[in-house]
Amino acid sequence: MTTGASRGCSRWTRPQLWGMLLWLLTACLVGCRAGDDTSRAPAESPTQPSDDAPRQMMVRRQIRARGVKDERVLGAMERVPRHEFVPAAQRPYAYEDRPLPIGKGQTISQPYIVALMTELLEVEEGDKVLEIGTGSGYQAAILAELTPHVYTIEIITSLAERAEETLRRLGYETVQVKAGDGYLGWPEHAPFDGIIVTCAPEEVPEALAEQLREGGRMVIPVGPQWTHQTLYVLRKSEGRLRQKEVIPVRFVPMVHG
Ligand code: SAH
Repeated sequence: MTTGASRGCSRWTRPQLWGMLLWLLTACLVGCRAGDDTSRAPAESPTQPSDDAPRQMMVRRQIRARGVKDERVLGAMERVPRHEFVPAAQRPYAYEDRPLPIGKGQTISQPYIVALMTELLEVEEGDKVLEIGTGSGYQAAILAELTPHVYTIEIITSLAERAEETLRRLGYETVQVKAGDGYLGWPEHAPFDGIIVTCAPEEVPEALAEQLREGGRMVIPVGPQWTHQTLYVLRKSEGRLRQKEVIPVRFVPMVHG
């Protein structure tokens, strides 16, 4: 017994069949293209750029809940896509409450520490800020949300290059990245309103103290290597640094170039 469908088929004219074939081909091509697009989109990462929810949760649970209050800092932490600054394999963990490896034995700091140090720096719009230890570029991006005048120095050239690339790709055009030794500071652009050090020296580097403007703040972990250090806020007043201890912290060492 023949089916109605096959009978119907036998009644189609040749132009109709060609039309049908063309339609099927177009549908397939459009489908394949759409498939490509989805696989290329940052959908590989569980945290998509358009999906702010994990970041908002990070700010609420890890940062606000621990007492960071500066709305400008909280806003910056909500906007900067941390997952863009970590290697692909670390992206699923980008909004977790911990530091993550970024290659070359270095780490991107825990989000809370980034927020706390930024708050302690008291950045005003228009301030000139120096960061020592660019790493992934994430802290520099947070600073760039607060002022366009951000200078950052990284001793490992390949990290400096990658950080600069990431910052440019995400539109942080004004951040100046230098591959070099942070112990020397960046005298050409001194004095700075704020200096933030994201690796730990055993003592406050002299050049950095000199390059801080009167009234400026330096946020810096100081202490022996590979153990706990103390996070300090230093304020320059009448040419001298007045220090305030904040909390015990653990940073990678600030190495000598
Ligand atoms: N702020 C970074 C994380 C910093 S990790 C971020 O947001 O990702 C500390 C970085 O300090 C490392 O990349 C390390 O290579 C760098 N570093 C160590 N000693 C340094 C020095 N003397 N000068 C500049 N950078 C240094």
